[in-house]
Amino acid sequence: MTAREIAAAVRTGARSARSVLEEHFARIDVREAELHAFNYLMREQAFGAADAIDSAVARGEDPGCLAGVPVAVKDNFCTRGVPTTCSSKILEGWTPPYDSTAVARLHAAGAVLVGKTNLDEFAMGSSTENSAFGPTRNPHDPSRVPGGSSGGSAVAVAAGFSAIAYGSDTGGSIRQPAALCGVVGVKPTYGSVSRYGLVAFASSLDQIGPFAVDVGDAALALEAVWGYDPMDSTSLDATMDSLSDSLDRGVAGLRVGIVRELTEVDGIAPEVQARVAAAAEALSAAGAKVDYVSVPSVSYGLSAYYLIAPAEASSNLARYDGVRYGRRDAGADVATMNSATRDAGFGAEVKRRIMLGTYALSAGYYDSYYGKAQKVRTLIIQDFARAYEQFDVLLTPTAPTVAFEFGSKTADPLAMYLSDVCTIPTNLAGHCAISVPYGTAEPTSGATLTSDGNPKQLPIGVQVLAPALGEATMFRVAKAIEASAP
Ligand code: GLN
Repeated sequence: MTAREIAAAVRTGARSARSVLEEHFARIDVREAELHAFNYLMREQAFGAADAIDSAVARGEDPGCLAGVPVAVKDNFCTRGVPTTCSSKILEGWTPPYDSTAVARLHAAGAVLVGKTNLDEFAMGSSTENSAFGPTRNPHDPSRVPGGSSGGSAVAVAAGFSAIAYGSDTGGSIRQPAALCGVVGVKPTYGSVSRYGLVAFASSLDQIGPFAVDVGDAALALEAVWGYDPMDSTSLDATMDSLSDSLDRGVAGLRVGIVRELTEVDGIAPEVQARVAAAAEALSAAGAKVDYVSVPSVSYGLSAYYLIAPAEASSNLARYDGVRYGRRDAGADVATMNSATRDAGFGAEVKRRIMLGTYALSAGYYDSYYGKAQKVRTLIIQDFARAYEQFDVLLTPTAPTVAFEFGSKTADPLAMYLSDVCTIPTNLAGHCAISVPYGTAEPTSGATLTSDGNPKQLPIGVQVLAPALGEATMFRVAKAIEASAP
């Protein structure tokens, strides 16, 4: 059942929220031990919430647009009274005293929170292998990664543990795991969903967004949480065009540009390129005008991101000092306690980012690294603006390859970073993008056969990009792509 069907059935009393939840927990009970999508399951709270919704319906009240919909949130969303770890040992024992705005809006919409999902520590990674609590596995092939950093949320939806889920996307952390797990993932416009109560990684790039089984559910899930919030100083005070209303308008006359620099280049697997080409053909058959477009500076997006994001992270993560949150390791004086806590509490990738960022911001290097990266960011914004003079939306792959095997990129951080080459430019520009499943392909590396000897088939996602607040058009195109998906 889609989230739309669940909410409709619960609102009319045709289904109880409790029975919907029982179905989802039954699936969790079968496969969660193997897949490890969750850091924390909220079984008791969830059944309490479901019963409250059923009572509200019985009293003739309307619990909201997500009535009885089981939802999972990434474990970097603050949840009042429920542990929030960011998959880091440094937050051990910390329980937030407040709900993030996104979570508060989910409660208000009648959603039922089932648990907090696993992630790469502090959302730094592309495989969920950087979690202090062990990796999450891809439900399509448990020997492979689900992508990351929101791997747990992607798996929760792909495995039917929750109808929808939410993650955060700083450089691709919603879209890339969505692609690798065969679900829809959305990075909305920067500022459209409040970051209040989302544990900060890189504040100028971080954005909350949904995972869903289809484009219609993704629209519903986004509409439930977005909109102005005075608690987030970067929140956009803008009217958002309804997504659900425009979904089925088709793509006749829309102009779609395939970004040459991110599609037909080395490093993007041929089977992924073929899927983008097929999606473009389908859009053309549906009446869109499709052509190639050049956005030259996106080729430098990855390099700029790995200066800007670590720089912001090094500043944001300074707050974990052993005093205010979570873990404390003893030391003879405050400075020794601080460093003992940070040494034991942070994992290797987080330490790497803090060092990279501190270096990029240090006196004498600021202009040549951080300053230069900011200039590249401006060039990317200008190049996109030029492209959007000719095109309504842009098309690229989401991830360069299908899901890879555990350990295959952990020894080489640069290889791991390349997973986000197609998704990062959107974050640098503050724009929106969506990944839509578009068929499958056989992997070309690692084990390629299933245990019964058949070729493995792994999901591929194509990405639709749109300018800031271009979600309504972006979703129309995504819907048309979904309709033609193999
Ligand atoms: N994989 C990228 C990184 O490691 C993006 C992560 C994200 O979007 N949170 O920084």
